[in-house]
Amino acid sequence: MTDQIFPFDNSYARLPDRLFARVSPAPAPTPQLLQLNRPLAEELGLDPDRLASPEGIAVLSGRRVAASADPIAMAYAGHQFGNWVPQLGDGRALLLGEVIDRNGRRRDIQLKGSGRTPFSRGGDGKAPLGPVLREFIVSEAMAALGIPTTRSLAAVATGEHVVRDTVQPGAVLTRVAASHVRIGTFQYFYARRDAEALQALTDHVIARHYPEITAADVPALALLEKVMERQANLVAQWMGVGFIHGVMNTDNMTISGETIDYGPCAFMDTFREGQVFSSIDVAGRYAYGNQPRIAQWNLAQLAQALLPLIPGDDDAAVEAAQATIDRFPDLFRDAWLSVMRRKLGLSTAAEGDAELISTLLSTMEAGRADFSLTFRRLADHSGPDTEGRPQARDLFADPAAFDTWAERWHARLATDPMQPAERDEMMRTANPLFIPRNHRVEEALTAAQDGDLQPLEKLRGVLARPFDHQPDEASLALPPQSHEVVAQTFC
Ligand code: AMP
Ligand code: MG
Ligand code: MG
Repeated sequence: MTDQIFPFDNSYARLPDRLFARVSPAPAPTPQLLQLNRPLAEELGLDPDRLASPEGIAVLSGRRVAASADPIAMAYAGHQFGNWVPQLGDGRALLLGEVIDRNGRRRDIQLKGSGRTPFSRGGDGKAPLGPVLREFIVSEAMAALGIPTTRSLAAVATGEHVVRDTVQPGAVLTRVAASHVRIGTFQYFYARRDAEALQALTDHVIARHYPEITAADVPALALLEKVMERQANLVAQWMGVGFIHGVMNTDNMTISGETIDYGPCAFMDTFREGQVFSSIDVAGRYAYGNQPRIAQWNLAQLAQALLPLIPGDDDAAVEAAQATIDRFPDLFRDAWLSVMRRKLGLSTAAEGDAELISTLLSTMEAGRADFSLTFRRLADHSGPDTEGRPQARDLFADPAAFDTWAERWHARLATDPMQPAERDEMMRTANPLFIPRNHRVEEALTAAQDGDLQPLEKLRGVLARPFDHQPDEASLALPPQSHEVVAQTFC
């Protein structure tokens, strides 16, 4: 390890300088460390004790710029709720630089909430404490579920106040990502007819995320294909844990296939295909069941942005891009089936599996059953000695409807060759007991805003082991009671 707190290497800052703007973070007046992710620090090859020292906190709050940092705000555009916005960009975030982690992977280190940039438009460049801690806890829960995501290294209170509908303490999140390149990054240069920047960006992301396609016939098409595969798998995994992203704008969809931008997202309690939590998603564009379609729509925007890099005349390029995008529904369906088969303990594929899964979901919806607990209870009954354990059927308003489905499921299980012990293990690790339930997250954030970090830390600890029984914390696995239900989430 070098003697630097962050041994940064900044490959993005070496790209043509119209891809970003160089900006220094706003110095936080009185930074205070709220959360530090020690295991992640270790994984990144950083010294957690040093990060927690005054010197480290100064860097994590933007008060001091680390020696090897080259802070930049990245340029990007995007479709927000389907509306084209030609310039967004990092308006309240700065990429400090990149580190090479213990596994040789390049990771971005970004400060979010570190002040204004040329992309701030009317915004203050700041982040309130609540949303910072919300992103921290939910992104780390996602990582523990094994789903690709940006990570949270630290949360620091700045000592300032941030005005939204209420006045809240300000905070800075240190976010870690495979990269922060989004579909909107490509769109920004496409809209400016800047093929040279598009090419530089494409070369960068291929070298960084998809080196295996460097020698492809048409690298831009191969890239589209790769991003499509990653996004199909990602959204399938979201669907498998009842996650609703809430703002699937093209600027919030990464090229690496990591979940990014935890705003008004939520994990569902009671299952509803059309469930929406985001206070701003009035039309339900980003509802649970719409996510695959929206992913495809977003990928079509990426395809368009890549057209200048596809050789041949315009019609041929459009046709090739369209043919690629048209494969999304099948790709997604395969990814979704493999996620859902694992959840139901099926190691093989059979005709009728999709229908079996859909029927469970519609029975859950009709019976107002809790999504996570239903699956978890199926898992908890797959091994030996299950007597006395809570039954999935009890979660359904009409348990007989569940029984009808369960008969079909058992018949299907009987045709599957998997050994019971193996099946038990597969189902247990596919069906989390602990998800970041809205009411628990809100409870922890409210306490944190009152200066009590204990509920947040307890929740963090439990969510770090989402598949394990943790008898002392059993209440954190439960759905909200009627008076605890959080109907809306905010960014
Ligand atoms: P988001 O809702 O986080 O995906 O952000 C959408 C766009 O608004 C991005 O360009 C952000 O940088 C920008 N933005 C969001 N909040 C602020 C803020 N407080 N100050 C400046 N820009 C912001
Ligand atoms: Mg510049
Ligand atoms: Mg965003």
